[in-house]
Amino acid sequence: MLRYSLIGALDLNHRRQKNTRIDQRPEYMSAKKQKSYALEVTLVVLALVIAFVTQGVIKSANPPKISNIPTGDKTALKEPLLEIEVDPSVTKQEDKVPKEYNKHLTDLATTPDWSELEQYQHTISKKVFERELEEVYTLEGKWRDWITTSDESAMIRTSAADGAQLFELFFASEVKQESPPKFWRKRDEVIVKDPVKPLLGLRIVVDPGHIGGKFSQVEERQFNYKDTPPVKEGNLTLKVAKMLAKQLEILGAQVTLTREYLSPVNPNRPDDYDKYAYTIMSKTNLWATPVAIRRASEKLFYRAGEIRERAKHVNNDYRPDLVLCLHFNAGMKSEELIQEEHFHMILNGAYMDSEVAKDDQRFTMMQRILQRIHPEEARLSSYARPLYTSDPADE
Ligand SMILES: [Zn+2]
Repeated sequence: MLRYSLIGALDLNHRRQKNTRIDQRPEYMSAKKQKSYALEVTLVVLALVIAFVTQGVIKSANPPKISNIPTGDKTALKEPLLEIEVDPSVTKQEDKVPKEYNKHLTDLATTPDWSELEQYQHTISKKVFERELEEVYTLEGKWRDWITTSDESAMIRTSAADGAQLFELFFASEVKQESPPKFWRKRDEVIVKDPVKPLLGLRIVVDPGHIGGKFSQVEERQFNYKDTPPVKEGNLTLKVAKMLAKQLEILGAQVTLTREYLSPVNPNRPDDYDKYAYTIMSKTNLWATPVAIRRASEKLFYRAGEIRERAKHVNNDYRPDLVLCLHFNAGMKSEELIQEEHFHMILNGAYMDSEVAKDDQRFTMMQRILQRIHPEEARLSSYARPLYTSDPADE
C-alpha cells in the first residue's frame, strides 16, 4: 500500500487532530484523550515503525535466520552528514506558491481536481463506503453534512463555498467489487519467494523527518542540554534513515530517501511565502506585523512547504509500497523527558469537523477510502503494537 502519510496517505500534511493515536497507556484509548493529545503530534510513524519493519514484516514473512543483518552499520555511522544547499534554479518549480490563502483549503493546498475520482466509479459498495465514513474517518456522523447517499450513488460536496457543486460516485454491487486503481501494493500482493531476501521487490521510501543542520533552530527541532551542542532531530533522523536503508536493502527492498542531506527538499525559501502569509493574516484578522509575517513565512517554508514537496516526489516520482516517516520528537523546553515524550503510532482517521470542511482534505479522505488504505494501515499497526505495548487488550 501506502502512499505518503504514515504508511498510507496521499499527502504529507502534518495531520494533527485527525490522527488516531495508539499509545501504550490504556487511558489514551478514549476518543477524547486521543483528540486532545494529538495536538502536538506530527504525521509520524516514529522509530516504532522502524523497528516494526525490521521485526514485524520480517517476522510475518517468515524469513530464515540471517546472520549478516547489521545491527549497527559502522560505515554509515562514520559518514558525515552534509549540508548542501540545493540551487533553486536547477530544481523544477512547477508548483509555485499559491497566490493567496483560501479559507476552504489547508495551508498551501490547491483546489483538488475531483474528476480524478472518476476512475473509482463502481469500485466500492455502499456498505463499505458508509462504514469507513462512520467508523473511521468522521466523528458523530458528521460526514452527512457533506455527503448524501442513495442505493446507487453518493453525492459529495466538492466546494465548501458553493453547495451546488457535487461529485457523484456510483457504488458497486455487493457481490462484484473491483480492485481500486492504486500504485502501491497490499501485503498480499507483494509475492515474496526469496527466503534470504524477504523484502525483495518491495519499494520503500524512508523520510528522515525535518531538515536539521543550520535549519534546526528555525524549525524548532533541537534539544539543548546544558552547555553541550544541541541535539538536532533532523540530523538524528537522517543518520538513522541511512542505517535503516542499508539494512532494508540487504533484505531485498528498493529504498529511496526523501532527503540525503541536511538541506530542505523544498526549493522555495521563507521570502517566497511572504505574500501568502500576509493573506492568511488579513483573512483571519490576525495582526500582520513584519515580525509575525516573517514567522508565518518561515513556518510555511519548513513545515507545509517542505512536507508538500516531499509528498509530491513520493506520490509522483517514487510511488512506493510503503513510506516510513522517521521522527524523534522531544520538547525544547525541558531538560528532562516529560510524560508526553514516548513511543506512539498514528493511524490516519477521525477527521475533525473543521478538517472535513476543507475541500482538499475531504478529497484526500475520499482517495483514502476508495483505495482502501485504512484496512492496510490498521493491519500493519496491529502487527506492530504488541511488540511495544503491554496493554492487556493485546493479550
Ligand atoms: Zn519530528
